[in-house]
Amino acid sequence: MKRSDKQCLNCGKEFLPKTVTSVYCSHVCSKKAYKQKMIRLKKEVGIKALVDKIPQNRAFISVPEAGMLFGIAKKTLYRLVEKGKIPSVNLGTRLIRIDRRVMEEMFGPASILQQAKSPPKKKLYSLEKEDCYSIGEIAQRFQISEGSVYSHIRKYSIPTRQIGKHVYAPKSEIDNLYNGNDFI
Ligand SMILES: [Zn+2]
Repeated sequence: MKRSDKQCLNCGKEFLPKTVTSVYCSHVCSKKAYKQKMIRLKKEVGIKALVDKIPQNRAFISVPEAGMLFGIAKKTLYRLVEKGKIPSVNLGTRLIRIDRRVMEEMFGPASILQQAKSPPKKKLYSLEKEDCYSIGEIAQRFQISEGSVYSHIRKYSIPTRQIGKHVYAPKSEIDNLYNGNDFI
């Protein structure tokens, strides 16, 4: 590996970074990583929704519920239950129930639940002209066609603003999309 080469965070290939912040070898890898991040975020939202459904006053919870609430892998919990490290009630196959209070004693408060209660952070971007690239600038800077820029903007719901003849998009959002700064 040459000193100037970097390893792509997506495919692991060595590449010569265009800018110091480049972490992906290509737009393809950058886009793939972006998609994966979106999938991961969706999953997290899904878990939070499930966690919200667990009644707070229910004393006995299932192993998957305990895993979600306390942020511990199900496998680990099943192992601890099997070894008797976590006392449990077995209502049948895969119907193991754990005392929530025991979990709290062992692992502390159910932190994910508390996080789920806090309002989601709003994404901050500025649509001031100096904080934006025009579509033409984006195409030039990242060496893609304006058509592709438009389709990515639509696909990833990136906000835009028209000023005069030109359409502008926030630098922060565009840099995240094409440079992957956000994924480090
Ligand atoms: Zn790559």
